Amino acid sequence: MNIVLLGAPGAGKGTQASKISEKYNLLHISTGDIFRANIKGGTEIGKLAKSFIDAGKLVPDEVTCDIVKDRLTWDDAKSGYMLDGFPRNLYQAQELDKFAKIDLCLNIEVDESLLMDRICGRRVCQCGESYHVSRLNGKTTCAKCGKELYRRADDNPQTVKSRLDTYNTQTAPLVDYYKAQGKLKTVDGGKGSIDDIFAEICKILNK
Ligand code: ADP
Ligand code: ZN
Repeated sequence: MNIVLLGAPGAGKGTQASKISEKYNLLHISTGDIFRANIKGGTEIGKLAKSFIDAGKLVPDEVTCDIVKDRLTWDDAKSGYMLDGFPRNLYQAQELDKFAKIDLCLNIEVDESLLMDRICGRRVCQCGESYHVSRLNGKTTCAKCGKELYRRADDNPQTVKSRLDTYNTQTAPLVDYYKAQGKLKTVDGGKGSIDDIFAEICKILNK
């Protein structure tokens, strides 16, 4: 099964994606993670992407689409995957339909008023786990792998505001795009615990 995960920054896409990928053995492809790895590695793509990411804007479509198109040709993508952070606008969604067959779009919906605090309080680990400061009780390391947690460079109020604007104007229309294709399933990502939300997602995926 090939899945697109849709949701605003802070909706919990990454958190749920790692749970889904573990339980259903689905490859998790996050364009944000790919860009961050490139920035860390100092590649040309990383250099280009950084200025857009820091400004809370989208990295240009040609670059992003090429990365995903290539990634989907790898052997490990043959038995299904979950795209997290792609597509992010109508053009990317239309391009994706040219090189992939998407079965389901899982839309994690969260009231916008919750997002700023969620993102600015987020602490992440290299291994992909993320936490909220309010639940860390002063701990600074990852419960899963023990590494030191850090704050993403783009998780600051100014960039977040811009990321939310970008989401509302460019990404939110994809809800209708996938609805029109009969592929949309929406879960409430603002109510209940991480596990409650995951249970809702499992109900959808088990069908
Ligand atoms: P979040 O969903 O929390 O905003 P991501 O890790 O998915 O975080 O993305 C971080 C940044 O990477 C985005 O703000 C954007 O600049 C860039 N990015 C990620 N995916 C895409 C994409 N599909 N198209 C263009 N830019 C992207
Ligand atoms: Zn970790």
